[in-house]
Amino acid sequence: MPYVDEDLGELDVDLFIQQPAPGGEGVVVAGTCPRCHGATRTLFPWGRPGAGTKGALRLLFGRGATQKAEDGPEPLLSEVHFCECGHAHPHSPPDTSFLGCGASWRLRR
Ligand SMILES: [Zn+2]
Ligand SMILES: [Zn+2]
Repeated sequence: MPYVDEDLGELDVDLFIQQPAPGGEGVVVAGTCPRCHGATRTLFPWGRPGAGTKGALRLLFGRGATQKAEDGPEPLLSEVHFCECGHAHPHSPPDTSFLGCGASWRLRR
């Protein structure tokens, strides 16, 4: 399957899980890419603007490392998610910082 920058729209939030990162540096959202069906997981770090993937909503995380997941905005629902399946799909742009099929989506309840 070639890389295609494709917005898949809104998906059921139950398809993904959100859990604290093992090192406590943020929240990990994990699930299966709806396009290539690869296992994808993305770390949304606390308090590190500019880290990770794009999105102005990341600024909302800049409230300190003691922020608990329950108190903050949920990356699960507030962020746009990108496939990070780790597979080098053909035709991937050379400037991407992660490997995926190019799919992006939002989650909703
Ligand atoms: Zn993939
Ligand atoms: Zn994918």
